[in-house]
Amino acid sequence: MTTTNLEVPVRALAIGAHPDDVEFGCGGTLAKWAAAGCQIFHLVCTDGSKGSWDPADDAATLVAARQEEQRAAARALGGSGEVTFLGWRDGELESGLRQRWDACYWIRHYRPDVVLGHDPWKRYRLHPDHRNAGLLATEGIVAARDPHFFPEQGVAPHRPSTLLLWEADEPDHTEDVTASFDAKLAALFEHRSQYRATMRIDDPSSVEQAEAFRRRMHDRAVEHGRDAGMTYGERFKRMDDL
Ligand SMILES: [Zn+2]
Repeated sequence: MTTTNLEVPVRALAIGAHPDDVEFGCGGTLAKWAAAGCQIFHLVCTDGSKGSWDPADDAATLVAARQEEQRAAARALGGSGEVTFLGWRDGELESGLRQRWDACYWIRHYRPDVVLGHDPWKRYRLHPDHRNAGLLATEGIVAARDPHFFPEQGVAPHRPSTLLLWEADEPDHTEDVTASFDAKLAALFEHRSQYRATMRIDDPSSVEQAEAFRRRMHDRAVEHGRDAGMTYGERFKRMDDL
């Protein structure tokens, strides 16, 4: 069964592998909820240090730039700009106990009603960071809800009510992002260091290239919304029994 439009949560936490993943995956949904009073938080697992095609780029400079871009993007979605960076090395994220400890801690800290993340079970997914970040969202919830996991954290257990997975292998839930699509785009455009690598914008001053990117995002949102009768949608796999 396909469902639409969750009740606006009080707090939402989006867990992404890299700076910009959250905006691509659920930016419209977060912006819609933020406009309705929801507190939105970002947890970014890696440092984004491989997000450049230029071998001459300095990794530390890129990491710092991407953190600033991510905070600006979070604000563009309507949040406070509060972003937690776990700082694992880009391209080498694992879903081991140490990383699970982190995910558990921040879920307990932020106490989100809804957690959003990558679908770790999407078939034919190439990037290991996306798979492992998705696993961390699910495994972090399992640990966060149970007092016997990581009791040394000294933070009360917390059980979110819903998990939404983007780029879902079997989507069964759609959020209407018609009114928040522009905010999603504005947030994506804050990731200036990613114009070349992920947005196919070689020339930041090119109106045509920016328009082509906007058009691709438009087409995707239309496709996601179509079956649910929405102008623009974001599709997810929804899990409530956490
Ligand atoms: Zn990514």
